[in-house]
Amino acid sequence: MEAHAYCPACGGRLSPHVEGGRARQACPACGRIHYRNPIPAAAVVVRLDKGVVLVRRKVAPFAGAWCLPAGFQEADESSEACAQRECREETGLQVRISRVLWAGFGTDDPRASVTVVFYEAEPVGGSLEPGDDAIEARAFPLTALPSPIAFATHRAVLARLGGSPAGTAPTPPARVPPTPV
Ligand SMILES: [Zn+2]
Repeated sequence: MEAHAYCPACGGRLSPHVEGGRARQACPACGRIHYRNPIPAAAVVVRLDKGVVLVRRKVAPFAGAWCLPAGFQEADESSEACAQRECREETGLQVRISRVLWAGFGTDDPRASVTVVFYEAEPVGGSLEPGDDAIEARAFPLTALPSPIAFATHRAVLARLGGSPAGTAPTPPARVPPTPV
């Protein structure tokens, strides 16, 4: 999450503020402290045709790279519902969540730091075809993953499952911008 210049509550200019030894921003006008938190995201590992479903990204960040179906959680949906929605939107597959695989912390998405919950899911309907923000959607054997695969957390999950996700993301990982002090 980017640092803000102005208070989201009252529009006042934010100032540096140290709380508990951590640099933050606060609004002198209304007293609100501007906390910055990772954005929750969800991703799915869907096994299909003896492979794992991946999508090739059409949009930034990491356009052209492959990743698991994934996206940011909306304020009015559960993590599981987010995973199912993103999978349906990006791959055309309707899935049932089987279990949680892992929760990862990602810092290579230039938009925000993220907490990504990875689910294992089974296809229960639909057919595999790329959605609007995907160039391709295909199942790959873990032993023959495409390259590059975006996002360190996605590579970590694929490695945990026995794959060897090759290559690096096509653009240098962006750092989460520090809070200006
Ligand atoms: Zn304020």
